[in-house]
Amino acid sequence: MNQTGAAQETWNTADLVRKDKAHMLHPVSNLRQLQEYGPLVMARGEGVYLWDTDGKRYIDAFAGLWNVNVGHGRRELADAMREQGERLAFSPTFFGLATPPTIELAAKLASLFPGDLNYFNFTSGGAESNETAIKIARYYWALRGKPDKVKVLSRMMAYHGIAMGALSATGIPAYWQDFGPRPAGFIHLTPPYYYRHGEGMTEDEFVDSLVRELEETIQREGADTIAAFIGEPIQGAGGVVVPPDRYWPAIAEVLRRHDILLILDEVITGFGRTGTLFGMQQYGITPDIVSFAKGVTSGYVPLGGVGVSSKIFDVLAEPDRVFMHGFTYSGHPVACAVALRNIQIIEEENLAANAGEVGAYMIGELSKLLERPYVGNVRGKGLMMLVELVADKETKAKFDPAQNLGGRLQAATRKRGIIVRCNPDSIAIAPPLILTKEEASTVVEAIADSLTEVLG
Ligand code: PMP
Repeated sequence: MNQTGAAQETWNTADLVRKDKAHMLHPVSNLRQLQEYGPLVMARGEGVYLWDTDGKRYIDAFAGLWNVNVGHGRRELADAMREQGERLAFSPTFFGLATPPTIELAAKLASLFPGDLNYFNFTSGGAESNETAIKIARYYWALRGKPDKVKVLSRMMAYHGIAMGALSATGIPAYWQDFGPRPAGFIHLTPPYYYRHGEGMTEDEFVDSLVRELEETIQREGADTIAAFIGEPIQGAGGVVVPPDRYWPAIAEVLRRHDILLILDEVITGFGRTGTLFGMQQYGITPDIVSFAKGVTSGYVPLGGVGVSSKIFDVLAEPDRVFMHGFTYSGHPVACAVALRNIQIIEEENLAANAGEVGAYMIGELSKLLERPYVGNVRGKGLMMLVELVADKETKAKFDPAQNLGGRLQAATRKRGIIVRCNPDSIAIAPPLILTKEEASTVVEAIADSLTEVLG
């Protein structure tokens, strides 16, 4: 392969763009602007690199959507797909059926997750996993004779997916707007976002205030009405919110004391991204239920799932009745075969450790941008990080959305050959876990130059 990705195939970009505008309804995109500018069409990937249909090369510093953990173009994963596809492309896990890759994946995950997260149910992605987790929490309490324990505690800035239940757990109002009514029974607490919510407090005092808020909420609502608390170990899409170290152990202790289940959403943080195999290992906590997706297959095929503790499973398996929950593609054999091979790569290549090491280096380099008047905060863990931009560093005032900072930064970074997520007041970065320090430096330099172009 050469630097421009001069490919085996040639593409007619203009024709693809025309058809896209005529027929694609893009998710999470400005549909009106897309009609004007058209899409950027990616044709090929290898390692951390992507090539568009005109042969221009980019570093994929967002790993697809925080999910291409092992990088692009892995022949082993394409082989796993083909081999299982030829052997048995589909057979369900409903009605007591199973396939070898489904069973082997469940067993492998049980060996990897901490604690007694020993039983696995599969889905096609993150939202389905969180729907499943919430339903299992309610089902568990119903079977235990407490059918009123149904409410779900979540946090603002949380992202748990856009299916209706997951959307209600999500705490980013932009995703709610004009899609109402949302399912009731979801309560949003303050996120552990020290930069904006910890004003005038030490980190310890901030954690104490969040714990107090949780206690007060439980008091007000009644522990006998609350099924579970759901949270990402590190909030991702909401703004890469890394909690103070004491936060999770303190929250988990309160929940345990009040008999409220803890659901951890490891959709982004799972499979190496934060520097440990799972985000929960950064904080030494084990949930009752875990949801995962994305990195489990590095996005090569859609797969998600939930793990439940033996304590939960024993209650679910007690009555002589059918567990009336499942998706057609729960435990898709091709997806499970890819997941097994993908996890093997993550382990063999020590990708969690690499994420920790290169991530720490990259966050250190990005932190040098704090000298600039418009860079308010740089945060992250492993290879998930964010640069927060402010109009005024003293007051932390946000930029006027009319300035279209996100759009301008997106153009500037793409021009320099890097793909990152440019929000109206931040840049989120989440490269494949195979990233080298040299590649990290290239990304940081491109971000620095793009900021100079747009903000001076
Ligand atoms: N949870 C988290 C933490 C996520 O980041 C996402 C996706 N960004 C989801 C759930 C939803 O996953 P999906 O888009 O596969 O439904």
